[in-house]
Amino acid sequence: MKALEQKILKEGTVLPGNVLKVGSFLNQKIDSDFIAEVGREIARLYEGCGVTKILTVESSGIAIAVAAGIALHVPVVFAKKHRSANMPSSVYTASVYSFTHKETYEIAVGNEYIESGDVVLIVDDFLANGNAVRGLMRITEEAGAQLAGCAIAIEKAFQGAGDKLRSEGVRVESLAIIEKMTDSSVEFRAQ
Ligand code: 5GP
Repeated sequence: MKALEQKILKEGTVLPGNVLKVGSFLNQKIDSDFIAEVGREIARLYEGCGVTKILTVESSGIAIAVAAGIALHVPVVFAKKHRSANMPSSVYTASVYSFTHKETYEIAVGNEYIESGDVVLIVDDFLANGNAVRGLMRITEEAGAQLAGCAIAIEKAFQGAGDKLRSEGVRVESLAIIEKMTDSSVEFRAQ
């Protein structure tokens, strides 16, 4: 998605530890018109695949997931990272190591929100080492639902998870794929 690549080049900054900061349009301040465009692009890619539910993880995946959910006219479920009083008592869980926080946490989705007949599309803002996506895949499997694939805004290909998942037969569509990034440059894979 050229518009996303241009936005990354214009507004993104590379932080130490291979972290791309896109707080000005994706992660903290959200560009509403742009996120709607991202949602439509995800819908275009997965149109006709029978997706019945979008699954993401709080919090940075939610905006993109909702944009895609609106465009595909399907509900969005997000895995919670913290247990709260209003969490259903029966949950599907997975342990996920966080790339940005450098700690392992448990993500959980109430059993009632994903059904065995669902066709799930996993959506997230970034794909780095693949732990978040694999956690969401485990939850999809636990629920007995079918996986349509993954839709990611920004894949950091140099971390390898996207191509590994593809080699395992998982459909992974990333709107911008970064092959290489340094303090002063970002290089994209031609798509
Ligand atoms: P993974 O689990 O694939 O290693 O990392 C994906 C998760 O970590 C995403 O949900 C995202 O929130 C966060 N993340 C990974 N890399 C980056 C990055 O370069 N920038 C930002 N802002 N978040 C990232």
